Amino acid sequence: MQVMVPSSPSCRLIVITGPSGVGKGSLVKQFLKLHPETWLSVSATTRAPRQGEVDGKHYFFVKQEKFEELVRNSGFLEWAKFAGNYYGTPRKQVQQKLESGRSVLLEIEVEGARQIRKSFPKALLIFLAPPSFEELERRIRGRGTDSESEIKQRLSRAKEELQSQQEFDAVVINDDLKFALAELQVQISSFN
Ligand code: ADP
Ligand code: 5GP
Repeated sequence: MQVMVPSSPSCRLIVITGPSGVGKGSLVKQFLKLHPETWLSVSATTRAPRQGEVDGKHYFFVKQEKFEELVRNSGFLEWAKFAGNYYGTPRKQVQQKLESGRSVLLEIEVEGARQIRKSFPKALLIFLAPPSFEELERRIRGRGTDSESEIKQRLSRAKEELQSQQEFDAVVINDDLKFALAELQVQISSFN
């Protein structure tokens, strides 16, 4: 099902994708400080909250049954299984924000980004890449939030995800976060 995005030139759907640990969350946080007019979608997940994560702010933490019910009722714009858990973008709020003329940002993994490409052909999809695989591993480990088996799953998935970067509208390399932020802004403004 394709979704119509209003024709307002400044209102758009922007997707930041890329492997876990590359710095999507860090980059999005900096971007939103500079662009508070952009609305960040809060995803639903079956993953357990990490220390400091707040329900409704970082994610909507739901049980698997609830997630499956939302899938059955077309409650998600996109969803995917990632490292043993489900993640999805709640449909209603994203549509409401776009209809009200606000730009919407999604921070999601690659499978979900591909689904958005199909349902929102005009969305801007940006792949955030690490400077090297070794640095990606250092970041995931350095974050200190995941168990060894989760780290292994994420790194194995990252190998596949990194192969897919050319599918997206732009690739931004997150070496120095400041430069990545500047490049992200260039990509977004040149797409408007
Ligand atoms: P993601 O949201 O893609 O999983 P995070 O934003 O959680 O990634 O970043 C993973 C780790 O890497 C965090 O500890 C973060 O502080 C660190 N990080 C993010 N960007 C950079 C960067 N440019 N250089 C070094 N470390 C970074
Ligand atoms: P984490 O468990 O590290 O918070 O997230 C794991 C991965 O799921 C990250 O790459 C993150 O961007 C992605 N993710 C978060 N929310 C969603 C979502 O709603 N849909 C999809 N497809 N991926 C998501």
